Amino acid sequence: MTLLPAAPPKVVEEIAAFGRFAASRGWVPATSGNFSCRIDEFRAAVTRSGIDKGAIGPGDVAMLAIDGNVPAGMSAETPLHLALYRDDPAIGAVFHVHTVAGTVLSRREEPAGCVRTDGYEMHKSIGLTTHESTVEIPILPNDQDTVWLAGEVSRRIGRAAPVPGFLLAGHGLYAWGATAADARRHVEGLEFLLACHLEERRLR
Ligand SMILES: [Zn+2]
Repeated sequence: MTLLPAAPPKVVEEIAAFGRFAASRGWVPATSGNFSCRIDEFRAAVTRSGIDKGAIGPGDVAMLAIDGNVPAGMSAETPLHLALYRDDPAIGAVFHVHTVAGTVLSRREEPAGCVRTDGYEMHKSIGLTTHESTVEIPILPNDQDTVWLAGEVSRRIGRAAPVPGFLLAGHGLYAWGATAADARRHVEGLEFLLACHLEERRLR
């Protein structure tokens, strides 16, 4: 494995804390998911590939240049994290999870291009001021060419997106925020909306 500079301990702990939370909810099965935090204008701390996201330690988070190439040993999805930081300077943390609701709905709703929810109080978790609103969570196609996919993220999501997250079809949820706490709240809020939407479809 390439020796990369370790991330500052405070940042590692923020990432590890989210990892423990996500693992406790069953959102990162089989070493899936990846997490990152911005360190400054030029650098971000990103989880390495293939690690148990519920037991992240100091050696599991590397510091990368936001404008640089992805070194060996990093997750194939690292370019998506870096694209989000490059496109929007307000983004301070990006968390990616593989939940059942997000995976199922992103397959079912891919032709529509988004999962649309209406009237939920939980819309307030992503910054809306009333439940009398509609949220559209974009769905991007999944692809193993993650450099191409990062280009799609830039094209489709870009700066100041109205919803702080998107789904990759048949894959999972990406969400972000200005801080790790904001990103966690957005993951929880969006996942709650997806779980409710899936439950409603079942009852229909
Ligand atoms: Zn993934």
